[in-house]
Amino acid sequence: MRGNCTKLRDKFTGWRCDSCGDFITSVQAGWVEWLASEDKHGNDVLSGPRPVHRGPRQKARKHNCRYDPLEEFRSSKTIVEGLPLDRLVGPDGLMVLLSLLAEGELPRREILELVRRVQIPGYELVRSLSRTRKRSKLTAPVLGHRCYLQSEIQEVLARTTGNNFILD
Ligand SMILES: [Zn+2]
Repeated sequence: MRGNCTKLRDKFTGWRCDSCGDFITSVQAGWVEWLASEDKHGNDVLSGPRPVHRGPRQKARKHNCRYDPLEEFRSSKTIVEGLPLDRLVGPDGLMVLLSLLAEGELPRREILELVRRVQIPGYELVRSLSRTRKRSKLTAPVLGHRCYLQSEIQEVLARTTGNNFILD
């Protein structure tokens, strides 16, 4: 059982691509992007930060997971900005995320979720559970605010066995 859980967790050390829904299995394959526009006072307003695949997907007929800058500009006058995922992992990555939080251009709630998703091992797993009918396997984190401790994520893993979940 334990060994099984470890294997399960290994499968979830990646990040979920918000565009195609597949896992981003290496940090090099990831990109984090958001949209920038100006409010009526000329201040930068950023929105919709999301992890996606960095390059075109071979499997999905070269589907490109990243926003199309031209399309975004045409349809909503927003500029696409982004960073390679590896700039947001580890201690320096956390600092970059904190600086974004301090800057206050992105909504706080969205930045916090990005920090959890990018930095916390297993968080993507808990997150995908909370969006499926397997929600019953989730208990509320002690800290609240969707801030799961590693022990709580482990517990979720221990209760979530079987291949069905892996394919979710
Ligand atoms: Zn993708």
